[in-house]
Amino acid sequence: MTADLLVVGSGFFGLTIAERCATELDLTVQVIDRRPHIGGNAYSEADPETGIEVHRYGAHLFHTSNQRVWDYVNRFTDFTPYQHRVYTTYRGEVYPLPINLGTINQFQRAAYSPDEARAWVAEQASRLTHEPANLEEKAISLIGEPLYEAFIKGYTAKQWQTDPRELGADIISRLPVRYTYDNRYFSDTYEGLPVDGYTAWIERMADHPNITVTLDTDFFDETQPFNKKACVGVTPVVYTGPVDRYFDGAHGDLSWRTLDFETEVLPTGDFQGTTVMNYADTDVPHTRVHEFRHFHPERDYPADRTVVMREFSRFAEADDEPYYPVNTPQDRERLLAYRELAKGETDVLFGGRLGTYQYLDMHMAIGSALSMFDNLVAPHFTSGTPLAGVRHDGHG
Ligand code: FAD
Ligand code: UDP
Repeated sequence: MTADLLVVGSGFFGLTIAERCATELDLTVQVIDRRPHIGGNAYSEADPETGIEVHRYGAHLFHTSNQRVWDYVNRFTDFTPYQHRVYTTYRGEVYPLPINLGTINQFQRAAYSPDEARAWVAEQASRLTHEPANLEEKAISLIGEPLYEAFIKGYTAKQWQTDPRELGADIISRLPVRYTYDNRYFSDTYEGLPVDGYTAWIERMADHPNITVTLDTDFFDETQPFNKKACVGVTPVVYTGPVDRYFDGAHGDLSWRTLDFETEVLPTGDFQGTTVMNYADTDVPHTRVHEFRHFHPERDYPADRTVVMREFSRFAEADDEPYYPVNTPQDRERLLAYRELAKGETDVLFGGRLGTYQYLDMHMAIGSALSMFDNLVAPHFTSGTPLAGVRHDGHG
């Protein structure tokens, strides 16, 4: 191992660290990924039959209010003016999301003003008399019981298969509730899709003479040269795989959701008239359907064919890709125990969605990698401060 730094995982977190180290510090960086492509979950590719860009791990929408992250990502790609909007089908009727005045008035067959809608929701939430402590209570506090029952309960049951009283309130706080007809899904300052696709963006981040990316390479496979046993203690490591896997599940497995995707080319120019349609009813097995052509109306896609992808959610088994941290109280206890173990790993930094067991969006993963670079990685390489953890010699 001749590189200055080993980065495990070529998702946005790992590539941001690699790019900063190569560009700012002139370090050599070896990146490995166990998948056959770079980019982690943000990877996309052209469907071979239609040329339509398909996000292989589910639709990825870039949005941020963080000026530093926005300036940073614009070094690698321009963005289209795409604004995300989502609709949901409930009992044979289509409603706009996130819950807004249009959703409420359609649901109630009413013409409420913003204040009337607020009053109606407050009345529907009045059974809740304490601070909301979990997803169900938080949702009811925000939108009242009938809207929760219609649009959140069934979808959340399919997405998480976990009692919504065991799930964190933060999951639902991701979605705004608006008393206007504004149905933009995100409220961030900046939003858009990479003009020539996610993979072109990601490849530009890795395109530096000091960065070597080796694919199909698992950190825990001792038959390959960049493995845990051979590298830890020899070369500084930034690890973005699952934190529990790093410690061989010593404190029990953390629970994750995985997704199954069914992709189909259909003989029509437009299947659903929009990019993402959610399905709120539990008798429909999938959570949502993506139709990728609508992400890029500016592109010249075939007029007679379209690519759709149905998304199904289930608990991740050992061989599945972990996507969403379930984060039950038991998971949170185990995570604390893993964080303690991580403190003992003085040559390894844990980052990203898997390495920190957090529901991070792309801009959050990139922002947290930029902070890790500033606060830990750069000081280590420029002034020799300890990379991570609690050193046994009393320093750090
Ligand atoms: P990842 O992209 O998961 O990268 C981690 C990499 O590590 C993977 O490539 C993996 O193969 C590799 N790895 C793991 N273990 C090993 C090992 N043992 N050896 C070698 N390599 C290993 N964010 C948004 O901003 N907008 C969205 O619309 C959005 N939609 C999403 C939809 C889905 C279904 C999912 C799952 C995520 C979505 N995200 C979205 C989040 C986004 O994907 C992440 O924020 C981003 O990819 C995080 O990057 P990361 O580097 O932390 O993790
Ligand atoms: N959610 C829901 N109904 C919907 C959309 C979202 O109940 O139609 C809930 C669900 O629990 C989901 C969470 O809100 O996990 C966050 O939704 P988001 O669309 O941000 O999920 P992601 O795109 O990250 O899967």
